[in-house]
Amino acid sequence: MKITVVCEHNPGMESEKGRRAYPEGLGNCLCDLLRETGAEVTLVRADETGVALTDEVLGGTDVLFWWGHWYHKQVDDALVEKVAARVHGGMGMVFLHSAHDSKPFKRLLGTPCSLRWREDGERERLWCVSPGHPIARGLGEFIDIPQEEMYGEYFDIPTPDELVYVGWFEGGEVFRGGCVFRRGRGKLFYFNPGHETYPTYRLPAVRTLLRQAAAYVAPAEGVGETPACRHCEQFSVPSAR
Ligand code: ZN
Repeated sequence: MKITVVCEHNPGMESEKGRRAYPEGLGNCLCDLLRETGAEVTLVRADETGVALTDEVLGGTDVLFWWGHWYHKQVDDALVEKVAARVHGGMGMVFLHSAHDSKPFKRLLGTPCSLRWREDGERERLWCVSPGHPIARGLGEFIDIPQEEMYGEYFDIPTPDELVYVGWFEGGEVFRGGCVFRRGRGKLFYFNPGHETYPTYRLPAVRTLLRQAAAYVAPAEGVGETPACRHCEQFSVPSAR
């Protein structure tokens, strides 16, 4: 399996808290935990200049992870369409944390994906609401995250095809923090934890969950073309231009 991790590099990661949480870099931390699956993992950097994801790398990707926070608007619209087409053909995607506001997520879900927000470093308890789901296998009734950014309802997403985790925060909010969506032949998983200044991706339960998420959204039969609609091709009136 080939996994590609698109991970932003932003000023929050250069802060003292950010460097303490991930001395090796958050993107490298994600790649290291995913390599434990035996997959071939490639890190693609994103920053204020956009995302350095080539057609060749995307074209060989079975599962694409996407972590972004500051530079969503810098992502090229043409790349978003290519990513969406590959998901429709069967590629799996895992959207992490602020990727709820990324262009590919909103393009694939079709809603604003806005949410309630507070950066307080509160404890989050993620309750499993789908016992036995392959993503939650062996992880118990809940996962505790000592400090996390608060994302709360209302989360403006379509009703998930599979709701796996609901997060609860000390401040009282709840959040659909672990959701699966099916789009075309592909599967998407959204997971809310992972602010860049909290070492959430070092927690053993979270690392196991992300590996199981990669396996769950991986294409069962490879990635193919989205079937063309022959009816539309036959009857659409050609553009005047
Ligand atoms: Zn954040």
